[in-house]
Amino acid sequence: MILVKEAQNIILEKLQPLEPENIPLLNTLGAVLQEDICAQRDNPPADNSAMDGYALRFNDISSLDQNNPLSLKVVEDIPAGQKPTKSINPGEASRIMTGAVVPGGADTVVMVEETEKKNGSVSILKPQKKGSHVRKQGEDFKKGDILLSKGDLVTSSNIAIIATAGYAKLSVNRKPVVAILSTGDELVDVDAKAEDHQIINSNTYLLASQVLESGAKPMLLGIVRDRKDDIKEKLKSANKADIIVTSGGVSVGDYDFVKDAIQDLGSEIVFWKIAMKPGKPLTFSMLSKRPLFGLPGNPVSSFVSFEQFVRPAILKMSGHTDIFRKTIRATLTEGIKKKDDGRRHFLRSTLTYINGSYSVSALSGQGSNMLASLASANSLLIIPESETELKSGQQVEVQVLRN
Ligand code: AMP
Ligand code: MG
Repeated sequence: MILVKEAQNIILEKLQPLEPENIPLLNTLGAVLQEDICAQRDNPPADNSAMDGYALRFNDISSLDQNNPLSLKVVEDIPAGQKPTKSINPGEASRIMTGAVVPGGADTVVMVEETEKKNGSVSILKPQKKGSHVRKQGEDFKKGDILLSKGDLVTSSNIAIIATAGYAKLSVNRKPVVAILSTGDELVDVDAKAEDHQIINSNTYLLASQVLESGAKPMLLGIVRDRKDDIKEKLKSANKADIIVTSGGVSVGDYDFVKDAIQDLGSEIVFWKIAMKPGKPLTFSMLSKRPLFGLPGNPVSSFVSFEQFVRPAILKMSGHTDIFRKTIRATLTEGIKKKDDGRRHFLRSTLTYINGSYSVSALSGQGSNMLASLASANSLLIIPESETELKSGQQVEVQVLRN
């Protein structure tokens, strides 16, 4: 058995970020930038109006007071998206809509609510501040400004600036394609009629969802029976994937053939068995230069080992530098005993934040086949390898799964 940390180090040291690709903006969400984003134009590109109202010269209305409204001649209507054709001379104004370019000569916009229209002219009812409601050219950013840097993540909140900077396509790290194969004679798919001796294949859905949450692309290879040759064929068919993940068939049962299949295909098992619970029999190898994770079949074992090993591998190959789930310290609400087994335990748990501090409790039903507690968990409570007891009130380490 090797330690969780050792296993992570061995895996990660074998992996490199995938090559960059130049792809349409909308496909880059969650990817890591491989180029600086440099503004191709000023934003706003010209002085434009922040209000529906009238563009005018402040000097014309500087002496205005509440009791003596002042009237200006309206020379043009400027909807958004239309270039103004007339400059504003003393005594004139143009009707202007939000986002429309402020015409030459004008320096101030008065909102429509503070005006009154009278055939061909407009009365300004209230005193104004010079320059009000005009968004100045380049006030947000200027042409040539570096807005985001290589290594930054594309998020929903920064994708607008990338679009506004003028990038229809951009260079990001390619995200890995992850082949997913469920092994087991007992498995049937979710839409089949399952007899009592059969188990519905949940791991394909579980692992594909974890792949998507990690920002990568799942490639579904379905279910394969516990026959070595069939497993070999399926593994060979994953040659377009960047990562291969199997579930089941890696333990010491008479029908556990995944390791044999890998070796038959000419790859060595880099390690088998990790000092953790759940997930101990995980096997790792490099199959034609691609990382292959043979996860144990129990759904919770698959889930937990994916989070510890496959997710960081995906994130590293996607170019991320922050690749591990966050862990925080929390107060344990109820003591827990653990066997002196030298393994790191990951318990499904509920993490809560009350009055400025975190507390955590383990859920009941920790069997590695038990899905109900997995469904309720927002975190994994960690019991370190060397511990045999955690006491109520103690500070413990918790891996956060959801915010
Ligand atoms: P194994 O690792 O193949 O010995 O499987 C361990 C347990 O996980 C067995 O009870 C299997 O029925 C169950 N199991 C294996 N694969 C899946 C799967 N794809 N979906 C749900 N349960 C599974
Ligand atoms: Mg099996």
